[in-house]
Amino acid sequence: YQRMLAVLRDEDAVSADGVRVTMLANVELPGDAIEAGKVGAEGVGLYRTEFLFMNRDDSPSEDEQFEVYRQVVAAIDGPVTIRTLDAGADKSLGRPDKVSPNPALGLRAIRLCLKETALFRTQLRALLRASAEGRMRIMLPMISTVSEIRQARHLIGEVAAELDDEGIAYDRDLPVGAMIEVPAAALAAPTLARYCDFFSLGTNDLIQYTLAIDRIDDEINYLYDPLHPAVLGLIRMTIDAGRAAGIGVSMCGEMASDKRYTPLLLGLGLTEFSMHPASVLEVKRAVMGADVDRLRRRTAEILSLTDANTYREALDGLTRESI
Ligand code: PEP
Ligand code: MG
Repeated sequence: YQRMLAVLRDEDAVSADGVRVTMLANVELPGDAIEAGKVGAEGVGLYRTEFLFMNRDDSPSEDEQFEVYRQVVAAIDGPVTIRTLDAGADKSLGRPDKVSPNPALGLRAIRLCLKETALFRTQLRALLRASAEGRMRIMLPMISTVSEIRQARHLIGEVAAELDDEGIAYDRDLPVGAMIEVPAAALAAPTLARYCDFFSLGTNDLIQYTLAIDRIDDEINYLYDPLHPAVLGLIRMTIDAGRAAGIGVSMCGEMASDKRYTPLLLGLGLTEFSMHPASVLEVKRAVMGADVDRLRRRTAEILSLTDANTYREALDGLTRESI
């Protein structure tokens, strides 16, 4: 089976009816970037920068970050989507002095960065400098308002002006996008799209926040359901809003890496998938076997069902198609 998949490495991910799909990799640790190359990923859809900040007392310097970002941007032949620091909640930096009463709803991700602007500016400077060495995109986690995107863009502009003064090169067309992982962002996607160059669906958090279930609490993980109609509705709204605005929409949550969901996601109109390198080839295989036009019609039909049993059976049928 692995050998059969390996044959697909250099093939384009094109569905049976000719829809071109982009296969990207998630990188959590630098070694994953090497794996991404091995499976023929076309770029990186999520580069998590938390590893640089965890298990230490200080924050990484601009030069230390620059070196790491520069290496990945130079090593990957394709766009590298680097997510700015997503600290807090399940990705605690271990600062016991800053315990939020409800970490998942507290000062995490973009909220933390916009409060601790010195920390954010250092990361942005390192990112902009590295952007001169390849194709980079900046991705902002846990966006829930237009104001957060504006503030982040404003800081990026300030950092760019500093680099101009210092005569340091950076990509002047560096795309800036938002993760859609809070229900409010999905519901407001048509508005957010006007301020973003791309969207990426973070289904791990989107499911957590939509269904009000802590993603790391084992007691309630039986409720963690990617197929809940509310979740699929928000995913569909995000994809539709991106298409209407003419910006790309990818998915970098775990849902994208599970081949059982590939027909459904294609049916919802997703054409950009980002996942752990180990899943890239099997999802690509599911894409290549799919008739997207039929899946779109079938998915629209299923999402309009209001009988819970019929809905679930129909989705179960769809998830079995790629196995
Ligand atoms: C997500 O929330 O789906 C996501 C990709 O980010 P993380 O798992 O790092 O929160
Ligand atoms: Mg997330």
